[in-house]
Amino acid sequence: MLDFLGDLRRTHMCGSLRGADAGRPAVLMGWVNRRRDLGNLLFVDVRDRTGITQIVFDKESSPSLHEKAGTLRNEYVIAVIGKVNKRDRNTVNKNIPTGEVELVAEELRILNDAKQPPFLPGDTALPNEEMRLKYRYLDLRRDAMQRNIELRHKVVLAIRDYLSSQGFFEIETPFMTRSTPEGARDYLVPSRVQPGCFYALPQSPQLFKQILMISGFERYFQIVRCFRDEDLRADRQPEFTQIDLEMSYPQPEQVWEVVEGFLTAAFRSAGFEIRTPFPRMSYDEAMRLYGSDKPDMRLPAMTDVREAFTAADFEKLGIDGALPLLAIRTPKVGRLSRKERDEDKELFGVHGQFNLIDIDRLEKSLPQATDYLKGMCSAKMDDLISIVGAKAGGAASLPGLCKMAGAYRLRLADKYRERHGAYQRTGDPAQDFRFLWVTDFPMFEYDDTDKRWVPAHHPFTSPHEKDMEKLESDPEAVRALAYDVVLNGTELGSGSIRIHRQDIQQKIFHALGMSEAEARARFGFFLEALEYGTPPHGGIALGIDRIVMILAGADSLREVIPFPKTARAVDLMVDAPTPVSEAQLKELGIQVKK
Ligand code: ASP
Repeated sequence: MLDFLGDLRRTHMCGSLRGADAGRPAVLMGWVNRRRDLGNLLFVDVRDRTGITQIVFDKESSPSLHEKAGTLRNEYVIAVIGKVNKRDRNTVNKNIPTGEVELVAEELRILNDAKQPPFLPGDTALPNEEMRLKYRYLDLRRDAMQRNIELRHKVVLAIRDYLSSQGFFEIETPFMTRSTPEGARDYLVPSRVQPGCFYALPQSPQLFKQILMISGFERYFQIVRCFRDEDLRADRQPEFTQIDLEMSYPQPEQVWEVVEGFLTAAFRSAGFEIRTPFPRMSYDEAMRLYGSDKPDMRLPAMTDVREAFTAADFEKLGIDGALPLLAIRTPKVGRLSRKERDEDKELFGVHGQFNLIDIDRLEKSLPQATDYLKGMCSAKMDDLISIVGAKAGGAASLPGLCKMAGAYRLRLADKYRERHGAYQRTGDPAQDFRFLWVTDFPMFEYDDTDKRWVPAHHPFTSPHEKDMEKLESDPEAVRALAYDVVLNGTELGSGSIRIHRQDIQQKIFHALGMSEAEARARFGFFLEALEYGTPPHGGIALGIDRIVMILAGADSLREVIPFPKTARAVDLMVDAPTPVSEAQLKELGIQVKK
């Protein structure tokens, strides 16, 4: 169909005409982005993956061609043969990379027409998201989406290249498998040949990657889809992509080094030079300083300002002096209006256990202590200082207080984002991308609903050697060789050194309240594999979608996943999930309850 191109067989992308010499013959193929009719001159902007180029149809030099161009509509697919022309100085379009040149048309082929689309990829105003997802193919034609998907490609490629250069093999693991516990519900796939039996789609390749270490591959990675049926948020999707890796014989530091290496490569591919090694902080410290296991370090940590007060002061304030008194500093907020102060109180909420102390009142009643505490948290004149403490005689716990204050810190940070400006990009990657390793997570968390201990990471994580004897007697105190990599308050990934001994793995299952029979039934294959000479091993997995989202400066994963699902886990374009036919259900031996 394209044989009319003759000798001009090589087509040009719009972007490649940038700075092209005048008079150069070129063929452009793409979509009609916009058409402007100025009487004798007709301008058509052609859009392809690389950008936009203006085509000129001149009635005087070619009336028939001009007439044909008049039939063009938005999103028609066309091929234009012509010659490059330098645009006059006063008609140069500085907004597009090819704005200095245009193509003077000599031949036009309409390769396909197009229905009037529900929205135009060339428009600056965005349609609502439902529309974008239903007509995703049109949405993906938009420049911003083309750039996000290109960025994703580059990031993934950089990670692959880096890991391959470090001796990692990319190895695939099955999608149709058994349940791997990562704390979410499984997506199930019914088996036709074994009625009543189901595969589970992997929540992660966790057990397979560990088995690959038992199989002797030493360094594995995979850019892999994982499936988790859980309630969705802006930064969650039912299927998402991880960069998953595992190594034999590592210390945690070696895993961190590999991650820092591939993140450096990934960020470089997006034009950012990040600094390594990333700072490290224990889970306990993160909770104490930030009230969060994923601290956003773009804003100051909290300070325990107890030292500024006497026992009598605490009594006067109704504060429990045995727990920290946490000062939250939000920089550059300036003086607050009455209304803002009331809003801040509302933001804090009403608690039986905690108190928000009004700094202005404190200044009046305890001026010296207030001065001292401001010094303790290095407050500047226009910083907002908010003080949170536990009520005297209340039942607040240390973790409860820290979490509460940490959450309030983030709410204030969000409210005053324009004023402190810490969330704005400065152009300095060391400031814009605050990475952190959070280490030594607790091994278990107490599940209040189920009234039992559950793994804080997953049950294959190794406890600290020295905490082994506390597994049954004091599970709360057991620390794990588990770590998270955090960027700007977002958890990018989690990993751990694994249990490589079968007897210890059994013990952990036991501590989790799993009987030996249940452990055998669920993980028998794995427990057996552990008995055949398992090397010590460990690894990590990071969410690619999140990394690309942050690099793209996007605020939803849907901006960087080509075909994402809605918050109700629906694909609006293909309309999935759907009911299936009776015949299909019958074949699978499944009956759906109405
Ligand atoms: N499988 C874990 C996850 O998906 C990561 C890891 O421990 O390597 O979170």
